[in-house]
Amino acid sequence: MTAACLMTTYQPLALSFTKGLGTRLWDQAGREYLDAVAGVAVTNVGHSHPRVVSAISEQAGLLLHTSNLYSIDWQQRLAHKLTQLSGLDRVFFNNSGAEANETALKLARLYGWHKGVEQPLVVVMENAFHGRTLGTLSASDGPAVRLGFQGLPGDFIKVPFGDLAALDKAHQAYGQRIVAVLMEPIQGESGVQLAPPGYLKALRELCNRRNWLLMLDEIQTGIGRTGQWFAFQHEGIVPDVMTLAKGLGNGVPIGACLARGKAAELFTPGSHGSTFGGNPLACRVGCTVLDIIEEQGLLENAKRQGERLLARLHAELDGEPQVLAIRGQGLMIGIELAQPIRDLTLIAARDHGLLINVTRGKTIRLLPPLTLDEREVEMIVRGVVRAVRGAEG
Ligand SMILES: *Cc1c(COP(=O)(O)O)cnc(C)c1O
Repeated sequence: MTAACLMTTYQPLALSFTKGLGTRLWDQAGREYLDAVAGVAVTNVGHSHPRVVSAISEQAGLLLHTSNLYSIDWQQRLAHKLTQLSGLDRVFFNNSGAEANETALKLARLYGWHKGVEQPLVVVMENAFHGRTLGTLSASDGPAVRLGFQGLPGDFIKVPFGDLAALDKAHQAYGQRIVAVLMEPIQGESGVQLAPPGYLKALRELCNRRNWLLMLDEIQTGIGRTGQWFAFQHEGIVPDVMTLAKGLGNGVPIGACLARGKAAELFTPGSHGSTFGGNPLACRVGCTVLDIIEEQGLLENAKRQGERLLARLHAELDGEPQVLAIRGQGLMIGIELAQPIRDLTLIAARDHGLLINVTRGKTIRLLPPLTLDEREVEMIVRGVVRAVRGAEG
């Protein structure tokens, strides 16, 4: 077929897959690839997991949609499960990450409104990525995603990621107008950037002191990606609001905004809604994904294989002139290059049968399924090393 009828928002590789199973994908010619992208942190339990397949087909044969005008049992079950795992109190379901963040931003607005704050402001981080709707674009950073969309809602203050003093400065400048902080625990799109140790904990204390909502975008880091259910659990804190999407549906679109305490009581009947959000199909799949992660011990596996992968990459690539830094947590790993390597994703796929992602031009991002095994860790290391070295040659 031809791509001529598609809007040109992506420049896809001339590579198309027809089948997936676990960590593997097969192209139209029947060639096998190891998938170290997982649809950008989506297929966390692997492609075509048999339990996900039967959850989808059974539910499709029973009931796909009723709208939120009626109670939806699977929605209540998934909400219950998510609140148990996270320590938050209530959930609103969406269909995507950007929508879940819009829900969080609306909660921040309502929170300000109840406090009598006119023109409430949300603090966000430099190099953040929160989605492509107008509101989440406004909360995001970087000319590549914002160029040409001027006139975005301007209710955000940007501070450097990991800089506590900058938050104090923001408070001095804007005082009571600030109502919340929204951030990714690890910045994914901007190259797997980790906050300095202790930052999240200090931010939690700061938010308590100032009565700001701490809102974490765990759309990429959540659902086991970093070796815990949610990245904030590494730091022993609980946010007031958290957003999820990507890995929750393993490929079936779903998003969720969770809230705790006062933030969980802000919406009232009519103040927010969604036609598809929380439908029986997506929520049943969400429940199935969480069960699989639990029963297969995938948090522990993500932690173990992630540590192994990070150590092996260090062992092979430290000292390589092309490589500036290797960092990550669990199975979310970035390899920052000195400069972009042309066609690197194509070279890795074509010459080494390995699917990788490159973000912000020069950071290789690895986000393999959480089911990754030891042998596959070695396959990733070999493919990445060869692709990087080959390009030098
Ligand atoms: C992918 C992503 C989003 C946007 O999710 P969509 O489902 O594409 O709208 C938002 N925040 C983070 C951190 C993401 O990784």
